[in-house]
Formats: sequence, C-alpha cells, structure tokens
Amino acid sequence: MPEPTVLDGIAIASEIKAEVALEVQGLKARGVNPGLAVILVGNVAASEIYVRSKVKTCAELGIFSEMLTPPETVTTEELLVMVQSLNAREDIDGILIQLPLPAHVNTKLLLEAISPDKDVDGFHPVNVGRLQSGQPGLQPCTPAGVMEMLRRRNIDVTGKNAVVIGRSDIVGKPMSMLLLNASATVTICHSRTFDLPAVTRNADILVAAIGRPGFVNSTMVKPGAVLIDVGINRLTDANDVARFFPNNPDREALFLRRGSVVIGDIDPAAFALSSAYTPVPGGVGALTIAMLMSNTVKAAALRRA
Ligand code: NDP
Repeated sequence: MPEPTVLDGIAIASEIKAEVALEVQGLKARGVNPGLAVILVGNVAASEIYVRSKVKTCAELGIFSEMLTPPETVTTEELLVMVQSLNAREDIDGILIQLPLPAHVNTKLLLEAISPDKDVDGFHPVNVGRLQSGQPGLQPCTPAGVMEMLRRRNIDVTGKNAVVIGRSDIVGKPMSMLLLNASATVTICHSRTFDLPAVTRNADILVAAIGRPGFVNSTMVKPGAVLIDVGINRLTDANDVARFFPNNPDREALFLRRGSVVIGDIDPAAFALSSAYTPVPGGVGALTIAMLMSNTVKAAALRRA
C-alpha cells in the first residue's frame, strides 16, 4: 500500500493567510479597513491563549482588531449592549464571542444578537439557514477549513461516501452540510448510531469530530479512505501514551516534559491504512484561525457588495 499523504494544516493555513493578506491590501486600496472585535469574558486561560493568537494573526495580516474583556461577573444584558454597539459600528466587520461563556450568561441569546453579516463564527441561525440552502454566507471556521483543505489538495468529494462522526452545531452538522453541498453522499453518525464500525468502514472520507482520544481504530477504516481528524484531546496517562504512540520517543519526551500530549479522535495507527490524513496537532486545528481571518475579510467585502 502506498504511503498516505499527510494533509499539512500548517502549510495550508499559510497559503490561506497569504491570500487573505492580499485581499486585505485590495480592500484597503478601496478605502475599506477590515476589523474584527473579539469579546473575551473573564480569565479562562485556554480562551485567553486562543484570543491572543487570533489578535496576533489579525495584526500579521493587516486586519484591525479590538479586544473587549468584560469581567466574569458581566451580565447577559451588559453583553447584549456590547454586541449591539459592535453591530452598529462601521469599522467592525466581524464579531466573535469567545466560548465558553460563564454559566450565568445566555450564550444562545448572545450569539443570535450578533448581526448575521458580522457573524464570523457562522453560528447565527441566519447563517446556518444560508448554509443549509446553499446560499453565500459566513460558515463555521473548522468545517470550512476542512473543505478548503480538501479543495486545495485536490481531493474531490463528488459522489463519494462521506461519513461524519459527531452532530454538534459547531462541527458535525455544518461539516455534513458542506460535504453534501459539495455533492458527497453523506452519513452523519452520533452516540446512538447502531454498529458504527459497519458505517465507518463504508467511508471514502471519514471525518471524526467526537472528542474521544483515539476512538476511531483500524478496524473502523476502509483501506484507502481519507481520514479527517477534528478531535483535540489530551492524554495524561503514561499507559495511554505508550498504547497510542508505541516506539515514539518524541511523544514520550513531550509527555515527560509537559505531563500530557495531544491526540485526535483517530488512533494514529489507523492513519497507515488511509490514502491521506490530517495529523493532530498540525492538521485541521491549524486551519481554524486562518478561516476566521478569511471570514472577516469575506464579511468586510460582502457588507459592501
Ligand atoms: P461535542 O461534544 O459537541 O460533540 C461530540 C459529538 O460526538 C456528538 O454529536 C456525540 O453524539 C458524538 N459522540 C460522542 N461519543 C460518541 C460515540 N461513542 N460514538 C459516536 N459518536 C459519539 O464536540 P464538538 O463537535 O464541539 O467537538 C468535537 C471534537 O472536535 C472535540 O475533540 C473538540 O475539541 C474538537 N474541536 C476541534 C476544533 C479545531 O479547531 N480543530 C474546533 C472545534 C472542536 P451525541 O450527539 O449523540 O451526543
């Protein structure tokens, strides 16, 4: 069996970011200065890291960004006022609320308050509807990144059996809809699916968005399939590290240094059966911020179309 192709998310993200930077220059030449506002509530360390990296990427690509950092105690009403003022601002094209929000905040209400034309996460029901009906709009970054990756690496999905494991609003459902819109034959699986391995073994393209370390094993994969691993999980047990990454001194050393290593939803041993796969880290995850930048520029252009 030929060596599988590694779908390098970092390289593809660089391609996307270089194109976005050119689009930004084009917009600026027309007097449009694209802007992204990020609302970060409280002091969740992981969220702070994500937001910092989004703001940094904006600066690299010439996108104006503004960070709003209300305290943990902020109310839904106060956040709604913040969103409404950003909706009204001409210099802001994209609004992103970093999730998760504190439990007392009504997340759904807030996401629905963002103007659909500035909804760069693609979570607003209007954008969900646009995606469903195949109209242009803003699409969720992670699944949109997967489609970009397939397109840029010439993996045609037309007519193929695409199986998506996971039905979340953020990944599984929009992923399935994008694949369907691209004319794949799509099956959506979830925790209630009967005989999951029988379904996944039929997949020419298998997308795992589950949130369980190494869940998809070699017995679940059709030889030659394209494996897209969306999962980001952490192994904190040395036995698990040894089981999933046998004879892998690099991962072992990383584990000893950091006390954990990242793994996707697909057992790395299954990658050898594939024709192409996304590694974790360095696969799908690397594309999400690039797609956010792309959505911000798209929103800036669409709003003035
Ligand atoms: P959710 O927890 O919202 O959804 C998980 C889905 O997996 C659910 O639909 C659930 O089914 C399904 N599932 C759980 N257990 C099983 C099982 N045993 N068999 C079949 N299906 C199962 O997660 P998300 O969609 O938000 O995220 C999924 C993964 O992707 C996570 O690891 C997350 O960290 C990662 N992620 C990565 C991103 C990136 O940038 N690369 C961005 C977003 C997420 P049911 O609906 O029946 O409960």
